[in-house]
Amino acid sequence: MTWQADADLSTLTTFGVPARAQWLCSIDQEDQLPVALQQADRKDLPVTVLGGGSNVLLLADVPGLVLHMQLMGIRHQPDPDDSNAVLVTAGAGENWHQLVDYCLHKGWHGLENLALIPGSVGASPVQNIGAYGVELADVLVSVRYFDTQSVQVRTLDRDDCQFGYRDSIFKQSLKQQAIILSVTLRLSREPRTVVTYPALLQHPDVSADMSPQQLFDVVCDIRRSKLPAPAVLGNAGSFFRNPVVSPDAYATLQARWPDIPAFATSTADVKVPAAWLIDRAGWKGVRRGAVGVHDKQALVLVNHGGGTGQQVLALAREIVASVEQTFGVRLQPEVCLVPAPESGL
Ligand SMILES: Cc1cc2nc3c(=O)[nH]c(=O)nc-3n(C[C@H](O)[C@H](O)[C@H](O)COP(=O)(O)OP(=O)(O)OC[C@H]3O[C@@H](n4cnc5c(N)ncnc54)[C@H](O)[C@@H]3O)c2cc1C
Repeated sequence: MTWQADADLSTLTTFGVPARAQWLCSIDQEDQLPVALQQADRKDLPVTVLGGGSNVLLLADVPGLVLHMQLMGIRHQPDPDDSNAVLVTAGAGENWHQLVDYCLHKGWHGLENLALIPGSVGASPVQNIGAYGVELADVLVSVRYFDTQSVQVRTLDRDDCQFGYRDSIFKQSLKQQAIILSVTLRLSREPRTVVTYPALLQHPDVSADMSPQQLFDVVCDIRRSKLPAPAVLGNAGSFFRNPVVSPDAYATLQARWPDIPAFATSTADVKVPAAWLIDRAGWKGVRRGAVGVHDKQALVLVNHGGGTGQQVLALAREIVASVEQTFGVRLQPEVCLVPAPESGL
């Protein structure tokens, strides 16, 4: 395990903005983690955890130690409670999409809707990744993590992860405390497809009896046509979360904008697509120098090349102010801002 001083982080996040880490250390064995944390503690260095860097905007150089999680390995075992299911455990450093592809080819189903989400397995519970009507919480059994406070490895079952929309305990009370080591999923040995999401239903190849492979192909097809590939255009996917508003607030919005779309939530509250709000406020395709709003998907902020984290942040703040002024709704970031800005977004 080596520590690299003054390390370049520009290629370690999908926004591709320039930033350096005071120290960078790759963790590819679990027993390296307590050693690295102890050394950081002795030197009084703050610790930042990085996976695939696809949900992070680096605003400046990162002080202290950046741990780049590269714990690999995929294991499986029969599910003792369900002969039609398999329990799959993957290391935090495994690539998420490669895990989805691997499971599909093994005949283990349930992840197809989550194909092509960039990033690592270890980050997947942090914001409870979701797409096309499925979220991680639907298949997750447990998360093994290193608890930096008790200095112990612990396991949290799904029901204790406090999963919500792009949310979990790892973003809340266990933020900065839990370093995820591996994730265990329950997948079906029988073909199962979830095709209830509107964007899927509109696709000509979607049908109730389609195979998991066909569903996987459709999801990849839709994503490739809608979202910019980070290798071509720096971005971190959806920059903002979809705001959730009360039924009264939604009724007020609808009175003024009758075509405002909405998704139901598990409560009476209503989720409004942030992309619609940003688009209607006139931001789609807008450029501010080297950064801008994607011209096909208003929820995605992009680095056209040579942009900085501060430039993206300034653009995000303009959008937040403009949407709030137009609709009275305050957008919150989905992307993690590192280091956290003092005045928030
Ligand atoms: C083009 C594009 C499309 C996307 N589409 C979707 C989508 O459809 N649905 C969706 O949910 N997300 C989407 N995302 C966001 C992103 O892919 C996910 O949030 C992903 O899970 C981030 O993984 P990562 O390894 O890159 O995490 P990073 O960006 O490295 O880190 C994200 C956060 O997780 C923490 N973290 C990372 N690894 C660990 C660990 N092992 N232990 C503890 N904390 C950790 C980091 O500290 C940070 O706070 C998209 C991103 C892009 C670029």
